[in-house]
Amino acid sequence: MDTQIVLPESQVAIHSPRLFCIGRNYAAHAAEMKSPMPEIPMVFLKPSTALIRNNGVVELPLQSDEVHHEVELVVVIGKKGKHINESQAADYVEGYAVGLDMTARDIQAKAKKKGHPWSVAKGFDTFAPLGDFVPKSAVNDPQNLGIKLLINGVTRQSGNTRDMHFSVHELIAYCSTIFTLLPGDLIYTGTPEGVGPVHDGDKLEASIEGMPSLSVTARR
Ligand code: MG
Repeated sequence: MDTQIVLPESQVAIHSPRLFCIGRNYAAHAAEMKSPMPEIPMVFLKPSTALIRNNGVVELPLQSDEVHHEVELVVVIGKKGKHINESQAADYVEGYAVGLDMTARDIQAKAKKKGHPWSVAKGFDTFAPLGDFVPKSAVNDPQNLGIKLLINGVTRQSGNTRDMHFSVHELIAYCSTIFTLLPGDLIYTGTPEGVGPVHDGDKLEASIEGMPSLSVTARR
């Protein structure tokens, strides 16, 4: 008897999307972290269990005393591809959303010192809030979008995607030289400056021009 279970690719992607995240993609954020800008995109991954959606709760883990917000433009991949040309990258985009790359900054700082990976600092459950998508046709220019984060109604981050070091299309091309991109994959494209700590009870509101905003609450 054949017991092998084969799931269609699209189903796998829906149930377990891959979260590719880009570090230091805005010069002013790299500067505030006192980190040099990378010469090629700096990619790390989060598990799909980090995803939460609008009105969800970010659980602040006991292992960290300093969880930071990072508001980011998120690209949703719509089509399978490998070695995608930058000039064709737009064809592989399904849509966009606003997202948050929650980061246990204290754990990350220790990992950086030791040259260890960021998986723990970045990968806790609920550490990848994601807003509702808009189709790519709703976005005129992904490199000219106001991007903002408010905590309890106070603006903490306010930037523009034009300040990305590597563009959305460059990131898709680069990632696809390593990973076969699949429908449903998400690329968190990095954060502008202004990152800072989140506390129990804080209400975070992330927004990007022309997209549904994302509201989450932090809980210890
Ligand atoms: Mg980030």
